[in-house]
Amino acid sequence: TRELITSVDRIMRRADQVRRLQVRANADTPDDARHAIHRGAQGVGLCRTEHMFLGERKQLVQNLILAADDAEREAALAALLPLQKADFVQMLETMDGKPMTVRLIDPPLHEFLPDLTQLSVKVAVDRERGTLDPADEELLNVVRRNHEANPMLGLRGVRLLLTMPGLIELQVRAIAEAAVERLRAGGDPRPEVMIPLIGSVRELQLARERAESVLAEVSAESGYELNFPIGCMIELPRAAVTAAHIAEEADFFSFGTNDLTQTTWGFSRDDVESSFVGRYIEAGIFGTSPFESIDVDGVGGMVRLGVDGGRSTKSGMKMGVCGEHGGDPDSIAFFHRVGLDYVSCSPFRVPVARLEAGRAAVLAPTE
Ligand code: PEP
Ligand code: MG
Repeated sequence: TRELITSVDRIMRRADQVRRLQVRANADTPDDARHAIHRGAQGVGLCRTEHMFLGERKQLVQNLILAADDAEREAALAALLPLQKADFVQMLETMDGKPMTVRLIDPPLHEFLPDLTQLSVKVAVDRERGTLDPADEELLNVVRRNHEANPMLGLRGVRLLLTMPGLIELQVRAIAEAAVERLRAGGDPRPEVMIPLIGSVRELQLARERAESVLAEVSAESGYELNFPIGCMIELPRAAVTAAHIAEEADFFSFGTNDLTQTTWGFSRDDVESSFVGRYIEAGIFGTSPFESIDVDGVGGMVRLGVDGGRSTKSGMKMGVCGEHGGDPDSIAFFHRVGLDYVSCSPFRVPVARLEAGRAAVLAPTE
């Protein structure tokens, strides 16, 4: 056993020496971040902040969505700020000296609102019984107004960030204040702010302006200069096609191959088992699901467009991938070939990604 461990260590060391791709981890909690470091991650490539708003905090986000006026909205934001900041302080501490890409919130809105059907039934029954609470009726109106037939194609990511006053400011302030806390403690925090579901340069420009003004505010308040990189996900075909423009406003790109696969193929990523993607696999039309292993010609073509477009505007622009494909061996070889700087995957896949990145460097020339 000892011999085996020694040879595995030797192989890992060799892979780390030769690989060009950096390997980061997708981590949403301080625990994830610790596991990631333990397995040799070189930073966090994706912190999905919507995962920090689950459980008891869901109610706080709902209060924000349902706020009837500015005062209620500000109270809801004020309640969220210390919680969000505390998360970031811990994660930045674990990732000290390493990049930590914090993606601003990207939930389909319905995940934070009560279910429309259940609430409709409750209101109808209570009305019949004469026990209807007017607050429930009001809530039903809000849920109806926000209802979407295709939430994954709806008010998510940057669309929510740009249309919900105060949300960008809350999250960027939490990141900036957490960084200041770490700096005061002598740390080396390296957060990167990432905007999800960008489809046009205008969206990124607007989000960026708001993020930058918060960074400037917290810089003035704290005396520390906080000019963290601000970049975006490339996870829509339109973003890949217009990457040269988007790069004007982005310090980095991260390819979200989960959504990019969904939107390039027009397959629902939430129905892989039950939908015809599963039947295609059964019928042998697909060897593997394109959600598992990158479809080099199609989705991979989008990634190439994004890389080439972005770097035609900013040569040497930093680019990575943070979809599930970031931990898949065949996909890693492809990401090496197209010249990405890093892959980001679940912490438990980090060792495999390091190994595959090493193998890719030896076997496959960069395009
Ligand atoms: C993606 O779409 O590939 C991605 C990383 O974002 P999410 O899975 O959170 O939509
Ligand atoms: Mg996505």
